[in-house]
Amino acid sequence: MTALEDMLQAEEAVLPENRVNLPQDEIPTRYYNIQADLREPLPPPLDPKTKQPVNPALLERLFAKELVRQEVSQERFISIPDEVLEAYARIGRPTPLVRARRLERFLKTPAKIFYKAEYLSPTGSHKPNTALAQAYYNSKQGTERLVTESGAGQWGSALAMSAALFGLKCRIYMVRISYQQKPGRRTMMETYGSEVLPSPSDATNFGKSLLAKDPNHPGTLGIAISEAIEDTVTREDTRYSLGSVLNHVLLHQSIIGQEAKKQFESIDVQPDVIAGCIGGGSNFAGFAYPFMMDKLKGKLDAEFVACEPKAVPSTTRGVYTYDFGDAAEMTPLVKMYTIGHKYLSPPIHSGGLRYHGKAPSLCALINNGHVRSVAYHQNEVFQAARTFAQTEGLIPAPETAHCIKYIIDEALRCKETNQDKVIAFNNCGHGLLDLKAYEDFLAGKLIDYEPSKIEVETYVN
Ligand SMILES: *Cc1c(COP(=O)(O)O)cnc(C)c1O
Repeated sequence: MTALEDMLQAEEAVLPENRVNLPQDEIPTRYYNIQADLREPLPPPLDPKTKQPVNPALLERLFAKELVRQEVSQERFISIPDEVLEAYARIGRPTPLVRARRLERFLKTPAKIFYKAEYLSPTGSHKPNTALAQAYYNSKQGTERLVTESGAGQWGSALAMSAALFGLKCRIYMVRISYQQKPGRRTMMETYGSEVLPSPSDATNFGKSLLAKDPNHPGTLGIAISEAIEDTVTREDTRYSLGSVLNHVLLHQSIIGQEAKKQFESIDVQPDVIAGCIGGGSNFAGFAYPFMMDKLKGKLDAEFVACEPKAVPSTTRGVYTYDFGDAAEMTPLVKMYTIGHKYLSPPIHSGGLRYHGKAPSLCALINNGHVRSVAYHQNEVFQAARTFAQTEGLIPAPETAHCIKYIIDEALRCKETNQDKVIAFNNCGHGLLDLKAYEDFLAGKLIDYEPSKIEVETYVN
């Protein structure tokens, strides 16, 4: 045999395990709802004035009815409508589960590293999994226009695409600093037919009040949320859409982990470590919760690790308490790990990880020790991303890179202790529209910001 044939044969031997595909008819047909398996029910969202649980019916002014029903549902599984399953197939689901063999070899680790390739969606992240569902339920009930906010632009582009596919108008309030840093994302949303405004904007009273004080206000996700809500409640034809944090969003993302479980089962492997980055918690939850279901039932002994930036340390330095979801105090009070709803995030490049709080179910799981969290600085994160790009060939989103930093460290620990752990992570986004961040990193211009002032008020004892 020639050397080439030799090599091809060796490659062939590893291929089936390298990339685990699922046929299209194995897209999960139900969403998994972790609320059914939590030992204690989640603390309910509270009206800030009365401190009493919010009547879910009031949320129907903001969200499609079916989404409100899902938000408070305690059912373990919720059927996915055929139209949404078709849309998932159209954007390329199921995504493959990939073994990062070249990264393993480079690290000389006995650990096995697998990732779920969510970056393969048309907009480059996991966000369409919920955007398509939200656009569908809204179009079904006759909503004409969707409004949302976007930080990095990943969510905005996913909703813009989904609004286009289901025939809805869409307006996106984009955090001004991202609007300036990521013109590519804005063009993408406009190409899909959405209207994009830098936030704070002069389209809302809240935005105007902030611009009056500072015409160059960089904006925050909390402010953009407030503007989107104000826009929604002043127009009958409009509903609001949120890309993370809420129960129904996490539920939609559960198709990621359900697919991954089938893929692991098909090669007879069980993950020992399950990791993801956390902005609001949706990609982590979507990947991890179907495995967490098994852990909560004592059927899986895995470790769950959530990765966040040191500059926005919601779960590593925050407080587990009731806080507002937005800067203008328009949302109910939600029990979560928070660094304060007025937190001014340092301008890190991971726009998707700048939110002050995290999803309530994730926070409950962190609080009772089922999920551990870790935090990193920008430079070490981009260094890890570069290693990943040079070994695996993919340039990850800066958000995802926080998790890649963790899995590389974990794989190196496995090398020291000679453990062949199976490490799985959600590869939730590519970085092809974040090259300015890589440019700054390569030029040595990235700053490892310390957190801003953390101020958490107590609203409920
Ligand atoms: C939006 C986004 C995040 C953060 O949001 P989660 O709800 O925590 O997933 C992380 N990574 C990417 C690529 C994103 O687009």
